[in-house]
Amino acid sequence: MTIHPLTGEFARDATESAFLAHQLARTRSLLGFTLLFCTVFYLSFFVTDVAVLGFDLAAAETFPARLLVAATAGSCAWLAYRRPLSVRATRLAASIAETVALAGFMHIAVHRPAEFHWHAMSLAIMLVVVYLYIPNRLVYALALAATATAVFFVLVLQVAPMPFPDMLTMGLLLVLVNTFGLLAARRYNHVLREEFRLQSDLKQAAQRDHLTGCYNRRYLHDHLMCAELARARRFGHKLTVVLCDIDHFKRINDTHGHTHGDAVIRAFAALLLQLTREQLDAVVRYGGEEFLLILPETDLDGGEQLAERLRARFAAMALPVEGGRTVLQATASFGVATFDFGNPHVRYTLPDLISAADKLMYAAKRKGRNCVESIELM
Ligand code: GH3
Ligand code: MG
Ligand code: MG
Repeated sequence: MTIHPLTGEFARDATESAFLAHQLARTRSLLGFTLLFCTVFYLSFFVTDVAVLGFDLAAAETFPARLLVAATAGSCAWLAYRRPLSVRATRLAASIAETVALAGFMHIAVHRPAEFHWHAMSLAIMLVVVYLYIPNRLVYALALAATATAVFFVLVLQVAPMPFPDMLTMGLLLVLVNTFGLLAARRYNHVLREEFRLQSDLKQAAQRDHLTGCYNRRYLHDHLMCAELARARRFGHKLTVVLCDIDHFKRINDTHGHTHGDAVIRAFAALLLQLTREQLDAVVRYGGEEFLLILPETDLDGGEQLAERLRARFAAMALPVEGGRTVLQATASFGVATFDFGNPHVRYTLPDLISAADKLMYAAKRKGRNCVESIELM
């Protein structure tokens, strides 16, 4: 989970997408709030147009620009609050509102040419809002802020040329705002992502087994049991569980040592994770070298086929131990149990299924190991 030093985003696209999805609710509410705030301020500053230009045509020419900015920012705020906007849509809304607000600002500045010193201050405040308060991609904020700063300078030269010392002060002020805005926004991006990284690490440590990366028993009992049972019952699916245990594992430990025993457990777990469906199935380290697979929307046939494939692949695996100097073979025994949760007459629970699979796994051991035993509960 490395963070790019310049963009302040995660270097890996998948991690960045997960972060943005995790942040989306917060982003939407921040976007809505900030744009609403901007709308009110933009409109209320019309009072200053009237105060400077008088209540006549000149002031009337600034009003449509203020109205357009307010309508755009207000609509984007409303959308952010009301609609389940995607990450892309929030960025689009933020960029549109920022562009219209900055363009509206330039238009009004041209109509009040005597006050470019004040305009420079206003622009500085707007740039802070663009960098730090309106949630947008940092590179987009930078592009908009830099363009607005350049356009503003052109306007100063064209509309209200000023003495060189004033230009210099104004220029340094705006460069300063852009620099610190960018640095602060970058730091803010980092802090949010560090927080996400920490949360992910904590979640990983709480839910996953350290040795294999499979779910641990705590996660099985706290979350999976209820969630999978509820899902299977709601949709009336068949659900299959597979319990598997490496055969004669004590011998592996005794012959090659605990560390190499660990490597065998890791290899078995990696195979289980590799052959199951990433988003749907759950692989739980149920005991030392015993694993539980929860396979939603899977009938007995599917469960048996998977167990058989796992059995054959594991038995055929050459497991390098002792730094590759020795290669060993191992096998595992499997118990498969299925229940049709669409059946309204019988109400089995997940522990019932696990206990049935456990019994079958021991039956497979008694049968001579390296085999699959299965049952469909009725
Ligand atoms: P069976 O074929 O009947 O399963 O025989 P077995 O030798 O595999 O018997 P059992 O499942 O009872 O033995 C499990 C052994 O696994 C006992 C324990 O010392 C060892 N073990 C448990 N957790 C770990 C672990 O994390 N790493 C290692 N290396 N060994 C472990
Ligand atoms: Mg065993
Ligand atoms: Mg065991």
